[in-house]
Amino acid sequence: MDNEERSPFMMPVTRLRGIGEGRAARLAARGIETLRDLIYHLPLRYEDRRRVTLISSAADGENAVVRGRVTAAGENGPFRGRGRRFNVVVRDPSGCIELVWFNYNGAHLSRLVVKDSELWVYGRVDLSSGAPRMYHPDIMPTGGGRDDDFLRILPVYPTVPGCSPRMLRAAVEQALAEVFPVLADPVPPGTTERLGLPTLSGALEALHRPLAQSPVDLVNARRSPAHRRSLFDRFLALMLAVQSRALSRGRLSGSPCPTPEDFIFRVQEWLPFRLTGSQAGAAAEILADMSRPSPMSRLLQGDVGCGKTVVAALAVHAAAVNGFQSAIMAPTQVLASQHFDYFSRLPRQFGFRPVLLTASTAGSERLRILERIADGSHNPVIGTQSLIQTGPVFRSLGLAVIDEQHRFGVRQRRLLDEKGNNPHVLVMSATPIPRTLAMTLHADLDISVITRLPEGRMPVVTRVAGPKDKKDLYRSLLTRLSAGQQAMVVCPVVEGCEDSDLKSAEEMYSALRRLLGSRFRIGLVHGRLPADRKDDVMEKFRNGRVDLLVGTTVMEVGLHAPGATMIIVEHPERFGLAQLHQLRGRVGRGGAGGVCVLMCSEDPSTEVLNRLSILTECSDGFKIAEHDMRMRGHGELTGVRQAGSGEVDIREIFREPALLEAARDAAADILGRNPPPTKKPRGSRSGIQI
Ligand code: ADP
Ligand code: MG
Repeated sequence: MDNEERSPFMMPVTRLRGIGEGRAARLAARGIETLRDLIYHLPLRYEDRRRVTLISSAADGENAVVRGRVTAAGENGPFRGRGRRFNVVVRDPSGCIELVWFNYNGAHLSRLVVKDSELWVYGRVDLSSGAPRMYHPDIMPTGGGRDDDFLRILPVYPTVPGCSPRMLRAAVEQALAEVFPVLADPVPPGTTERLGLPTLSGALEALHRPLAQSPVDLVNARRSPAHRRSLFDRFLALMLAVQSRALSRGRLSGSPCPTPEDFIFRVQEWLPFRLTGSQAGAAAEILADMSRPSPMSRLLQGDVGCGKTVVAALAVHAAAVNGFQSAIMAPTQVLASQHFDYFSRLPRQFGFRPVLLTASTAGSERLRILERIADGSHNPVIGTQSLIQTGPVFRSLGLAVIDEQHRFGVRQRRLLDEKGNNPHVLVMSATPIPRTLAMTLHADLDISVITRLPEGRMPVVTRVAGPKDKKDLYRSLLTRLSAGQQAMVVCPVVEGCEDSDLKSAEEMYSALRRLLGSRFRIGLVHGRLPADRKDDVMEKFRNGRVDLLVGTTVMEVGLHAPGATMIIVEHPERFGLAQLHQLRGRVGRGGAGGVCVLMCSEDPSTEVLNRLSILTECSDGFKIAEHDMRMRGHGELTGVRQAGSGEVDIREIFREPALLEAARDAAADILGRNPPPTKKPRGSRSGIQI
């Protein structure tokens, strides 16, 4: 709609009256360069100036409109330290109010305020001196046919330093006047009608010039139809960005890997356990994708411990029987070697010859490995994503498995396409992301979900403890360590600082070493250690050569230590629920159930207790994550931004999930794709169909 240079949308703001180079620069500093930017500079809130108040009934601290006659006006001072001020006294039938300006344009005020003339006045009432006052009120002479301009719901825009609110409002008004005649709505009228949303021009009109009869509370809560339309537009921009990416990847031709119908059944025979229903379902979806010529882009989601790796192994095997190699990428060296162990131990029928790429393999050894990757004798190739992306040349890369999605962005996925012949991509994530959110973050991926833990796996028993439980806790830790089990202690910070009584990992480590160091092997891990030391200690813990691991959340992602049965989290109130759920997923993976103790430093408030009790009562990672995101917006992940779209706040997604789905369908319409069905069976593809 606005891709033409000449379109008023793209006109620079300098085309407007009152905006020269200086103001344009200040607007540009806030990202406002064109008329389009200006009409999308939406009000933060609205001032309700519709009701006129009598001076005598104006309440302290409240904003009010009064109407009165000027009985005195003029400059006073200079006063020591405050310079000069401009004072005006206005009277209405009920009393007087004094208006005060400190920094002002004297000529301008003298012109506006004429003795015995009548003024509209809007400002915050201050009764602290005993008599009513307003500082720096907004004023306008009454009459002249413009009263309605003053007595309305007035938009308050986010401030732009160096531009007055009045100037900004005037600029937006001008921009709207320029743009409206040529405004075309990119959303078809049928869609807006169905959703009960106004048209684009209707929405912009209502947002910038709310009608006198608008329900101001709804408008201020940003829940008005116009606000929903504006949110819909941001959702739509986001969905268009991700879907057009998916569309272009769908047009690539990749490496089709067809498999016979009984493929899963045959592999099942080699495994020491039965695949769960949802594992088999996810595997079937993956195999179906891989059999097609266009490359797969699929996210495999499942709570910690649900058994994603074996599903990946099936995919790797499907590639292998079609003559393709696979790359398996993990975010850290420890996780990469964990996968290497896993793939090395798989039944020999898989026919795998895995190799682990590490930064420390050097010289002729490294050359030999690279050669054997290039001639196809190694498969799968396992390593950290950076190593795999910069390192080897494959004979025929057909599948890339990426573990722990949330550390892996879109750009990396594109790099991968260049590495092989548009390999199939399977992303595995243990960060439970509710469906609506996954649709947004990963709308270019189809999604498979493993919904249940394998039979017999017991949820980690979680309890909240306080200072008085310390002795018991210590005793129980000792019992477990003495029985040959492992444990972890997680602290929120690496080292202590004076003005904080947070327990630090280093202090905890020293204290535990003093107490237990003679009998047990204790390790320390945190983000400030050099990478190789960090990896070394986590590797030792994984292999059972460290009994007690103390550290920060660097130990969170993916670490699989079968011997660990207990985790103690200090200051749990400092962590998100989803993060705590991830942490407790590290224990109890070896069959002997696990325990998680959330150790509050003082008796927790009811609010903290309520929040933490969600963990003690619920073991469904998806429910927990959703709860967390509703409350906190998911830590660092509060906004979602894709190239070419505005920012969407995660809380907005939770508030209006139906609007997001509608935006997804509208984007598919616009791009000429069939809208996906809105009702999907659980655990089946819920992303965008390619
Ligand atoms: P995650 O999904 O967290 O990556 P893993 O793939 O590491 O989980 O699996 C955790 C453990 O569960 C592994 O030891 C794996 O062999 C085992 N496992 C996987 N699937 C099943 C199953 N269907 N029945 C029993 N154990 C299983
Ligand atoms: Mg895993």
